[in-house]
Amino acid sequence: MTRGSCFCGAVKFQFSGEMTPIQYCHAERCRKSSGAAAAVEALAPIEGFEWVSGEDNLTHFEAPLLDKPPAYRKSFCSTCGSPMPSELDGLPYMFINPGVLDDDPGSRPFRHAFTAQKACWHEITDQLPQHEALPDGPNVDTLKE
Ligand SMILES: [Zn+2]
Repeated sequence: MTRGSCFCGAVKFQFSGEMTPIQYCHAERCRKSSGAAAAVEALAPIEGFEWVSGEDNLTHFEAPLLDKPPAYRKSFCSTCGSPMPSELDGLPYMFINPGVLDDDPGSRPFRHAFTAQKACWHEITDQLPQHEALPDGPNVDTLKE
C-alpha cells in the first residue's frame, strides 16, 4: 500500500496498485499547475485507490482542452493547495504528483517530456531521455512505455 497526503494533512489517500514510471513534464501548463521547474507525474490504477480522509476538502479544476481529450484536470486541497490525485477521463488511472506521497512507490523517473517548453532558467542535469513533446500528451499511453 502506498500512502499520500497534502501539506496540511486534511486530505489523505492510498493505493494498492503498481504506479507507472515517473515523468518530469516541462510543459507550461504543468509548470504552472505545480509551481516547479517541471511537474513530476505518474499514474496509479484507480482500482485499489481510495481517499482515506478529506475527499470533501478537495477542489477540482478543469482547464480548457488544447485540442482533444483528456481534459487537463487538477484536484487540490482546498485548505493548503497541495496537488492531490486527479481522475482521468474514462481511464482506469489516477494522475498523481508523487511529491505528495508518504511511502516509496517503487517506481522511479524515466524521462523528461515537453522539453521544448522548458523554463529558460532551468537546466536538466540528469541523463534521462528528453522528448521535445509527446504525441498524445500526458495520458496513460504515454506514461506506460
Ligand atoms: Zn491540505
